[in-house]
Formats: sequence, structure tokens, C-alpha cells
Amino acid sequence: METLPNCPMCQSAYTYEDRGLFVCPECGHEWQESDVETGLDVRDANGNPLTDGDSVTVIKDLKVKGASGAIKQGTKVKNIRLVEGDHNIDCKVDGFGPMKLKSEFVKKL
Ligand SMILES: [Zn+2]
Repeated sequence: METLPNCPMCQSAYTYEDRGLFVCPECGHEWQESDVETGLDVRDANGNPLTDGDSVTVIKDLKVKGASGAIKQGTKVKNIRLVEGDHNIDCKVDGFGPMKLKSEFVKKL
């Protein structure tokens, strides 16, 4: 399942995609993905654009500074937040707490 962005006008979660446009059935707003204003172009390992609130999976074991173990490949991370910088995903990983990940090591769910 692809996660669609909420409507930027009314925040409805019932949006759908139609011929490259996102459509909101509640307020009738139509917009293009590039209109979604995060100011950041963050893409996952497959080149799919990520947005705030997306869920991703980690595609390789990631060593964590100060932690005894690594974040395992396949770990699901919910509700990411895009940030600027080398580690461009701000998130909370179960068992590890808040941390930053690189988008190239995750895949959008
Ligand atoms: Zn709407």
C-alpha cells in the first residue's frame, strides 16, 4: 500500500491519486506532488519521494553510536519527519529512541 499525503488544504486523509495528481474528495482540492511544501527533496533507496508522516523500513543493518546493537534490516519506522542535512530523516525507532537516519537506507512502505 502506498501512503498518500493528507490534503494540504483541509488535512483530509482520504486523498487519492489520479493521473499524476492528488485529489481530495472532501474539499475538491487537486495538487501535484511537487506542490507539497516541505522545501526538502528527500528520497528513499528507490528514489521515491518521502514526506513527513511516512512509514519506512530500514533496508540494511545500521550501526548506532552508543547502542549495543544495530537497527536491523526490515525494522519499521513510523511517522518520519524530514529534516535538512546528511541524516535527513528524524524519527523514533522502537528500542532505540529518537534518532536520525539517512534516506538512502530506507524504503517507503
Ligand atoms: Zn481537502
